[in-house]
Amino acid sequence: MSVAETLGFFSGVQFYDHPSFRMACQQFDTVAEHLQMPESDRAWIKFPKRSLTVALPIQRDDGSMEVFSGYRVQHHLALGPTKGGLRYHPDVTLGEVAALAMWMSWKCALTGLPYGGAKGGIACDPRALSATELERLTRRYTQEMIPFIGPQIDIMAPDVGTNEQTMAWMMDSYSVHMGHTVPSIVTGKPVGLGGSLGRREATGRGVGYLINRAMDTIGLNSSQATAVVQGFGNVGSVAAFSLAKYGVKIIAVSDVNGGLFNSKGLDLYQLEKHVAQRKTVAGFSEAEPITNEQLLATPCEILVPAALERQITEANAGKIDCRILAEAANGPTTPEADAILDRRPEVFVIPDILCNAGGVVVSYFEWVQDLQSFFWTETEVMDKLFRILEGAFVQTLNTSRKRKISMRLAALSLGVKRVQEAKRARGLFP
Ligand code: GLU
Repeated sequence: MSVAETLGFFSGVQFYDHPSFRMACQQFDTVAEHLQMPESDRAWIKFPKRSLTVALPIQRDDGSMEVFSGYRVQHHLALGPTKGGLRYHPDVTLGEVAALAMWMSWKCALTGLPYGGAKGGIACDPRALSATELERLTRRYTQEMIPFIGPQIDIMAPDVGTNEQTMAWMMDSYSVHMGHTVPSIVTGKPVGLGGSLGRREATGRGVGYLINRAMDTIGLNSSQATAVVQGFGNVGSVAAFSLAKYGVKIIAVSDVNGGLFNSKGLDLYQLEKHVAQRKTVAGFSEAEPITNEQLLATPCEILVPAALERQITEANAGKIDCRILAEAANGPTTPEADAILDRRPEVFVIPDILCNAGGVVVSYFEWVQDLQSFFWTETEVMDKLFRILEGAFVQTLNTSRKRKISMRLAALSLGVKRVQEAKRARGLFP
């Protein structure tokens, strides 16, 4: 009988049950097998340390009252405070947030950041709320989270559906409570409030940098490469621009409202203008509309899922037609799809915890700058970012080649092993 079963722990984590949480656990189990981790360590390292669920009553603009559900999950406390984004999306649940918190742990460990993973979320549709309603909701959530967060406890950042303004409201609410300004409570703030130069672009630029490294690795010429990007939010759009700078032609993009295709390449500047006006890529005149399914099967050299989890599945993993799968989103590929990709060595996967790590790396820089009240130039930020990504890429690639395992298993093994070592060195508490 495993330790988890003896402790009755599996029944205790039922409340995390969700397809993404099951997926994160399945990935962990594969890694634990690969590392031959003692059975007794597994539940201890796998399951989140603690979580908080809050009811968030707010007044709507029409005077009515509505209660939203908010969550925060802190995965482990062995390396320092926990770190991770805050998501506003109708499908947010405690289990989804728990999975995202686990992935943050392996991501921070892979890139050598002194953090455990965390994630938060509110089940809401931010596009259906006014700015004043979003402000009330964010301030209410921050208020409820006060006993659970702090610059040395847990630091939030933007994720799907949140942005710099959300972080500004959080920082202000926390600071009002403390009686003095506390910039280090969140990262991804406006630069004028102690945010870091380059933070907004960091995830997308990191994706671009790593794709460029992958192109070198497999001998692909960027000026002959085409890319397809699923999701045109902060990560997908910056990644597209970054790839264009490397000479790659962007032939298709999408967002929740639909996709676009143009074999000659999309004019990203025109598209950006269109998105600024219409808040969606849909309806852009210089391209043909395509569905999400068509987008993922579009022949290209580089496929960049930059939206939500579980997009590349058993159903479409055999149909994706690319040389590089660059996972800008968290958890875009299911373990069943991984099994298919493992049999397709022509597809080079840059796994999520490596591919999108640029965001949290620059969040770490922002936190360090805030704690020291000493700010860096954008060149310093980018230079330090690329050094860390380079190190993580080379380590992952070397591990994958040496042990003859996938890039995903290599990245996850490096991250999980570091968390295991830290926990073992400290003892049972964290
Ligand atoms: N939400 C981002 C992620 O998933 C950033 C987290 C952070 O900067 O703390 O990696």
